[in-house]
Amino acid sequence: MTPDATMAATLLASGGKLLIGGAWRDAASGKTFPTLNPATGETLLDIAEGDAPDIDDAVRAARAALDGPWGAMSAAERGKILWKIGDLLLQHAADAARLETLNGGKPITETTRIEVPLAADVFHYNAGAATKIEGSTIPVSGSYFNYTIREPLGVVGLIVPWNFPLLMAARKVAPALAAGNAVVLKPAEETPLTALRLGEIALEAGLPPGVLNVVPGFGPTAGAALVAHSGVAAIAFTGETSTGRTIMANAAGTTKKLSLELGGKSPNIVLDDADIDLAARGALSAIFYNKGEVCTAGSRLLIQKSIREPLIEKILARAAKMVPGDTLDPKTRLGALTSQDQVAKVERYVALGKKEGARLLVGGERATVGDGRGNFWKPTIFDGVRNDMTIAREEIFGPVLSVIDVDDFDHAIAIANETTYGLAAGIWTRDIKKAHRAARALQAGTVWINAYNLYDAASPYGGYKASGFGRESGMAGVDAYLQTKSVWVDLS
Ligand code: ADP
Repeated sequence: MTPDATMAATLLASGGKLLIGGAWRDAASGKTFPTLNPATGETLLDIAEGDAPDIDDAVRAARAALDGPWGAMSAAERGKILWKIGDLLLQHAADAARLETLNGGKPITETTRIEVPLAADVFHYNAGAATKIEGSTIPVSGSYFNYTIREPLGVVGLIVPWNFPLLMAARKVAPALAAGNAVVLKPAEETPLTALRLGEIALEAGLPPGVLNVVPGFGPTAGAALVAHSGVAAIAFTGETSTGRTIMANAAGTTKKLSLELGGKSPNIVLDDADIDLAARGALSAIFYNKGEVCTAGSRLLIQKSIREPLIEKILARAAKMVPGDTLDPKTRLGALTSQDQVAKVERYVALGKKEGARLLVGGERATVGDGRGNFWKPTIFDGVRNDMTIAREEIFGPVLSVIDVDDFDHAIAIANETTYGLAAGIWTRDIKKAHRAARALQAGTVWINAYNLYDAASPYGGYKASGFGRESGMAGVDAYLQTKSVWVDLS
């Protein structure tokens, strides 16, 4: 075994099997697929490849849990288990972070300081939310008493992507369980390890068997089977907009509730009265955090013309210091793209950017780290981008920034909104009126003022326009997994 494979085997005791009904088992087909470390190209572990029969077993196990102990459990008891999952995630944080780094190509400092603690926060927040789910009494006409009960949806299917494997799983699993649902979680085929680790931790925390089933597999097989399953009441999905549309079409036959968190092409506006140093730092972290593999990545930098030269100079000086490195080295700040497909995609868009006349300022090519087998890419910045160029319109999902000049506030807002997406936006200005006017005018689910990429388990998150619908996090995130029953009582 390679050192990577040995480490993965040590960190994941269940060994890459499916979690169904509280038991770890092989896929019905017996098939497996390798999962890799994108920083080295090495295989970490062979993973059981779930498909339709396994999804069906998982849905049955989830149904049995709902009809059994889980459905009968009080909200306070559910909350205690969720709190324990959060605690165990923190207790095993160093190992969970290593597993996430190995599988996703993220620097160990990021997984240690950001991803794992945020995932634990999500469980702790939702532990408290479980006991705050309340109906209401409604003043209806006539001699009737009308009240509402908030009930779980039933078995819910959660399909997550590979860019924040553990955090995305946590943001769906925790509120779904707080609301009393049972879950079938399908991690992305690229990054199943921490979802499986979460399954181990959930069992250790006392979650009854079948409440959380984890079935790794491919999108068009396992994912599609989950979407089409008649026993699944809802699908919560995070991923590409095109995949979200496919899921909508495939869910239509069984009338499922959907919550879709899709792509983005988020604008990050710097006005001429901004703190230039802060804005330069913010512009870089907005696009290069997690190597640009972030749905909210600030991939369009809209700079007011009068400050473009000093701002770009500062951005380039900082970008020169951003060098990809060994993902397990605590000093590394830029990791490896999660798959070879991603490298090919970034390569394609960089070529398109050049062809359409954008000016490459820096990067635009692979970076070599170690023996050169990892998927590393240099931070890439294009200047002179027009908003109608392909690199400004389509989501690249990699470390590629497009700089677009804007004349003034109104022009900035117009260009910012001139996109099919609407996930997030940023604005840098010292003018409080402009900041809040922008917050109202920007067509996006999240707006950051003099900041970027902030998240909290308590704050709702989701898209406008083609970036999807439904909200995650906060109480809105719990609502997504509930349905309302109206009860009438005749008092006459
Ligand atoms: P990417 O193409 O960047 O991997 P996707 O949006 O395709 O992003 O993937 C996000 C998640 O959606 C993954 O877990 C993937 O397996 C799943 N997925 C992909 N295609 C489908 C599909 N047709 N039905 C259900 N899930 C899918």
